[in-house]
Amino acid sequence: MSVSISGKTTVVGVIGDPVSHTLSPPMHNAAFSQLGIDWVYVPFHVRPEFVGAAVRSIPALGLKGFNVTVPHKVAVMEHLDEIDREAQLIGAVNTVVHERGRLIGYNTDGRGFLRSLQRQGGRTVAGANVLILGAGGAAKAIACSAALAGAGRLVIANRTFDKANDLAHMVNEQTGVPADAVELDGSCRVGSRLAEALGEADIVVQTTSVGMYPRHDVPPIVDVTRLKREAFVCDIVYRPRETSLIRAAKTHGCDVLTGEGMLAYQGAIALELWTGLDAPDELMLQTLINLLAAEAAAV
Ligand code: NAP
Repeated sequence: MSVSISGKTTVVGVIGDPVSHTLSPPMHNAAFSQLGIDWVYVPFHVRPEFVGAAVRSIPALGLKGFNVTVPHKVAVMEHLDEIDREAQLIGAVNTVVHERGRLIGYNTDGRGFLRSLQRQGGRTVAGANVLILGAGGAAKAIACSAALAGAGRLVIANRTFDKANDLAHMVNEQTGVPADAVELDGSCRVGSRLAEALGEADIVVQTTSVGMYPRHDVPPIVDVTRLKREAFVCDIVYRPRETSLIRAAKTHGCDVLTGEGMLAYQGAIALELWTGLDAPDELMLQTLINLLAAEAAAV
């Protein structure tokens, strides 16, 4: 795929540090090409001390917007004119839209996960008992979006219990959805609160970095035999595509969802916010799957 750039090309991109590993440029540029629009998506390596300057340059340079990746998702917020409710709740922004000089922040990570759950998994969180493993940035986004989408109950399990507790409190207070915290201690012993939460979960979402390449050769983060066989198990780690948790859950008889859908669909929702068009999200997903397969074959 080649991108042709003219004086009329609309520019969007991603800011991050590092940014060299990002798969978003080929994914978005394939989408622009499919839509037949004169847009281009480029990576910008922005160090933390330049976040403010980079954001202020957006209206000056006439960019339509940008994605924000690690470690700038929180720092970028103080430089924006407006932040939508979901992003405020999550406390982080991954997409900025430039509207006639105003910069508006959104967070599409949680909604990207929910779209993946629905399109690829055929499930919704509505009324479901959702167990989230982890309480970092991705967990926060998924917990908030799941609560806003009508989850019945959330349980947050994290190695650092206080972070799980803070997230559960915040979700409960801000959305009214019942939310509890448990310690993610790895033992999953019978009678523990974690074993109980595993046994009650309709949907499990693994959001910790455990199982991520290059430290992917690790046991599953929880004992999947504590799950109901009809529980639906998601792992948002996408390098590798199939983690040890996903393999174990399949062996236990559970249906599963891997992490590349969340990445593709958070990008698709960002593209929709910038362009106002429906994203060719299946093409974006397939582009991402091909890139991940090529990456895996190269190691
Ligand atoms: P983060 O904010 O740094 O949070 C990391 C989480 O992992 C915390 O809950 C942390 O627990 C936990 N953790 C780390 N090492 C652990 C260990 N050895 N045992 C138990 N828990 C451990 O990171 P993040 O941004 O949320 O990202 C987390 C993962 O999600 C990464 O693998 C990332 O690639 C993936 N991700 C995927 C997508 C997607 O689109 N598919 C999007 C975002 C992130 P403590 O609080 O106890 O430290």
